[in-house]
Amino acid sequence: MGDARIGLIGLGTMGAALASNIAEKGFDIAVFNRTTQVTRDFAAGAGELAPKITPTETLEAFVAALATPRAIILMVPAGDAVDQQIAALKPLLDPDDLIIDCGNALFHDTDRRAAECGQPFLGVGVSGGEEGARHGPSIMGGGGPELWDRVEDIMLAISAKHEGEPCAALMGPGGAGHFVKMVHNGIEYADMQMIAEIYGLLRDGAGMEAEAIGDVFAAWDEGPLKSYLIEITAKVSRARDAESGAPLLSVIVDAAGQKGTGRWTAIESQHLLTPVPAIEAAVVARNLSSRREERAAGEAIFGAAPQPFEIDQGLLERALIAGKVLCYAQGFVMIAATREAKGWEIDLPQVARIWREGCIIRSAMLDDMAAALADHPGENLMRTPHFAALLKGSHGALRQVVAQASLNGHPVPALSSGLAYFDTMRTGRGTANVIQGQRDFFGLHGFEHVNGKTGQHGPWAKG
Ligand code: NDP
Repeated sequence: MGDARIGLIGLGTMGAALASNIAEKGFDIAVFNRTTQVTRDFAAGAGELAPKITPTETLEAFVAALATPRAIILMVPAGDAVDQQIAALKPLLDPDDLIIDCGNALFHDTDRRAAECGQPFLGVGVSGGEEGARHGPSIMGGGGPELWDRVEDIMLAISAKHEGEPCAALMGPGGAGHFVKMVHNGIEYADMQMIAEIYGLLRDGAGMEAEAIGDVFAAWDEGPLKSYLIEITAKVSRARDAESGAPLLSVIVDAAGQKGTGRWTAIESQHLLTPVPAIEAAVVARNLSSRREERAAGEAIFGAAPQPFEIDQGLLERALIAGKVLCYAQGFVMIAATREAKGWEIDLPQVARIWREGCIIRSAMLDDMAAALADHPGENLMRTPHFAALLKGSHGALRQVVAQASLNGHPVPALSSGLAYFDTMRTGRGTANVIQGQRDFFGLHGFEHVNGKTGQHGPWAKG
């Protein structure tokens, strides 16, 4: 029997980085990859970490290299690959051997696997891309506390640290970790889309060159918008194409890729009846971005939409602040809704705390969000005093930016849906009375009277 403390299967981009991180933190790790050459290359490049790493070329050798009860991380593509890998492993495992899926599984799949795979099972969301996995990701665990305890020291050691505090925690049972990771990715979609919309206003409205736009984002990264996504947008904007020397952004095709986690968030939000319109708008925008031929055909008929106009950069910054608060607020409301739907006691301030470092949506605002959510449990972030004050000072800018963008032909779907959410959520008496009247007229669905009586009908109801 071996003595490796933990095993990892899948030495792709994330798996290789995570395995190196684990070894670097002093844990003995056995690794296995479907394609043996990948394992050999990984071992050959391990350098000073090599003594902590046991490369194996068969699943049998991999399992034998692990101390019992075993703990095995899977870092393979979400979906069938995870089920196939579990099926291949199971005959070789003891009943108390723990499987930890660290990929981007849909949380329903994690719930199913935890219930049905017949082994102790954790579903763990890992955010931060390759760099995060190598040097400190944000880690969102899901499963039983007794299972988390078996690997908590490793998870805390490899995670990012915010002022010394590990950005890793157990979110709740079953698929809770993957659920929180999914919402994280949904917020990521909305945040990225809002930044792209502001970039569009600077490029096509103000007529600025990419490098100058990069300078604007770099300056904003010194203020309230300070975040990883603003920082990398500045870097991407300032980068040049190695071949032509042109600004890199001018040679990148304007069709965004996706792996589906934003779509999952939008779909789940509909099931939970907790709308996340900024995230939905971002998913739709990515889908439309891929329709390049159709967009070009539309431009040929109607002319290009965006027109130049004068833009106040301070206004744009404040609009982005408001938009950012609103998309995070939507994400947190969605996580809170799982308490009722799933009975998961996810600790919202803790979610904000473990997102402060390591993950893609890390941002200076998350410190204040963690405090606001702790001080005002169950409250929509937009109504907590700190963020209400921030929105009071910035929603006017968001309104002006959305209005000017609209008047000048610039599509800003995420920013405008954020604004519509804000206005809807501060309108005590809305317009759904008309919907209820219409529903009663054509389907006798009944409505609730303002006097509290339910099942009421209009004069069209007979008898
Ligand atoms: P890669 O494509 O880089 O690597 C995939 C790995 O899985 C390879 O080692 C591959 O082995 C193995 N694999 C693929 N199919 C199977 C299979 N059917 N059975 C066994 N092994 C298989 O993926 P990533 O490292 O980028 O992603 C891994 C997981 O991490 C995914 O769930 C992804 O969504 C998630 N993730 C990725 C992030 C990123 O930034 N890339 C960020 C956060 C999470 P082989 O060498 O044989 O092909």
